[in-house]
Amino acid sequence: MTITTEYYKMLNSLPTVQGEYKFNYNLSNLTWFKVGGPAQVFYKPKNLSDLQIFLKQINSSNITVLGAGSNIIIRDGGIDGIVIKLGQSFNDIELEGDKITAGASCLNFNLAKFCAASSIKGFEFLVGIPGTIGGGIAMNAGSYGFEFKDIIQEILAIDFTGNIHKFTNKGIGFGYRNNNLPKNLIFLSATFIAEKGDSDAINNLMQEIISKRSATQPIKERTGGSSFANPKDAKAWELIDKAGLRGYRINDASLSNLHCNFMINHGNASAKDLEDLGEFARQKVYETSGIHLEWEIKRIGNHSHPELASGPRLTIFRS
Ligand SMILES: Cc1cc2nc3c(=O)[nH]c(=O)nc-3n(C[C@H](O)[C@H](O)[C@H](O)COP(=O)(O)OP(=O)(O)OC[C@H]3O[C@@H](n4cnc5c(N)ncnc54)[C@H](O)[C@@H]3O)c2cc1C
Repeated sequence: MTITTEYYKMLNSLPTVQGEYKFNYNLSNLTWFKVGGPAQVFYKPKNLSDLQIFLKQINSSNITVLGAGSNIIIRDGGIDGIVIKLGQSFNDIELEGDKITAGASCLNFNLAKFCAASSIKGFEFLVGIPGTIGGGIAMNAGSYGFEFKDIIQEILAIDFTGNIHKFTNKGIGFGYRNNNLPKNLIFLSATFIAEKGDSDAINNLMQEIISKRSATQPIKERTGGSSFANPKDAKAWELIDKAGLRGYRINDASLSNLHCNFMINHGNASAKDLEDLGEFARQKVYETSGIHLEWEIKRIGNHSHPELASGPRLTIFRS
């Protein structure tokens, strides 16, 4: 962790909150990959008003938001500034008439189960995406032909100065695994249209998705899902396979044998091992197919050894 005068200034300026602060806090356990360094300041707000007071008083743009950490590599040098994770008071699900509102920290799986229990269709695909509603909005997460953009009506978000905003589906500007919103937002909740469906059909589809996933993806491993977005008219996994990289390993990080667009931490991989592996795959795919793969997994934070991070044996392609 970088200890600077700014760091001490930040510590001194931290508002009194009802939520929880942790300092120099190890973030690796908050991610699926189980890698990464500490947060200088980790803050878990008690509720919305606590978060709003915090943001209004802290007056900082150096803020990172974490969901379930299922699409993220936190680098070994950790994250400067403030890391915020929304806790239990942001995970309610409410059904009112034909609208469902879910808090940003609610797990996709829980919303899918809730909808199934209420015979509401269209949410089945969420059962296989192991993130939160907030992460799903950020990534426009999707599978089996559906994405967040197909089910969201509107969202609530708070900006880093503590002002609350509402965005309609159109205003969010969903794209493939992204959106067009400003980067200084913390998503608070999403409202969806609830449409009744056949309970058996909903449960059967969810079961089918769960079975397909466990047969085709390393869902019990330390992974981050698809490492790279599918390029136009191609599949990232096929390009990686053609480059001969299925199962390719750097230290304890490998490309999965089961689904080679998934990286796996076999136990002792560092964030650097995983990122180097990804960059190596990008380089080899470019050499064999002429296609630049774009990372889908977010990589955030500091390299602990900047001179090594770019890797002497690798050519790094950055878009
Ligand atoms: C086994 C496995 C299978 C997967 N399968 C799929 C799949 O089929 N389809 C798919 O799309 N993805 C898949 N993923 C990737 C991942 O689950 C999704 O991208 C998910 O939406 C990430 O949500 P999260 O809460 O884990 O976000 P995180 O990984 O914690 O964060 C991802 C991004 O979202 C931002 N973010 C999170 N919460 C908020 C918030 N409240 N406000 C603002 N920004 C926020 C973070 O800052 C970060 O930029 C898979 C991952 C795994 C491990």
